[in-house]
Amino acid sequence: MDENFKIILRIQSNDTRVDEIIREQERAPKEIQRLKHDLDLLEKSMEQELSNLEDLKKGNMGLDRDLEEIELKLKKSKAKLNDVKSNKEYQAVLKEIEELNELIFQKEEVAMKWMEEIEIQEKECADNNRRWEQSRKEYETEKKKFLQRMKELDKEIQSLNEQRLKLSREVDQDLLSRYTALKANLRSQVVVPVIDAVCGGCHLGIPPQQYNDLIRGGSPQSCPNCNRIIYFEENKNP
Ligand SMILES: [Zn+2]
Repeated sequence: MDENFKIILRIQSNDTRVDEIIREQERAPKEIQRLKHDLDLLEKSMEQELSNLEDLKKGNMGLDRDLEEIELKLKKSKAKLNDVKSNKEYQAVLKEIEELNELIFQKEEVAMKWMEEIEIQEKECADNNRRWEQSRKEYETEKKKFLQRMKELDKEIQSLNEQRLKLSREVDQDLLSRYTALKANLRSQVVVPVIDAVCGGCHLGIPPQQYNDLIRGGSPQSCPNCNRIIYFEENKNP
């Protein structure tokens, strides 16, 4: 193969790698941002659950105060029993005690439900905490990996740029201009092999005369259909 061709192929593989790196550099920060976003969401939900727990505990404390007051009243009512003068008065105090006992029973029922709620909520908060800790670790690890990777890619691009500059000085300038112009318009490879008389870019046939010229080598040629720079390559899997 012509020396110029070898160089232009190296320039192409160099450029392809640069394109790959740029795509990776664009993609990677989005992945990190997604992890950070998940972490922020988890943190918000944690704050909410924690504030729910505090509300429950406050409510429960209020309930405890109510119970204390009622129990104090009950004590007083029981003390009154010793001082009653008439049966009517006695019955009234008994009724009062009965009502207070009923009230205590009801309040205790509610307090038990509150306690259950608090336990559930405490478990929820602990679970959230664990999940958050796990996500935070994952995020930190990924971020470290990401920064390391970006550093590597920057280094690689720098070396590729240096390499390309060197190659572009060595190659035939007309061929390089053709390559550069084609690359600006094509999204895929610019320099492609022709295998069994078929262009590797557009997959259309090459006229027999041109194909014979290609096999013999010589000056760089263009595909008559897609205009890509073509070279002959033997079919390795005939
Ligand atoms: Zn073609």
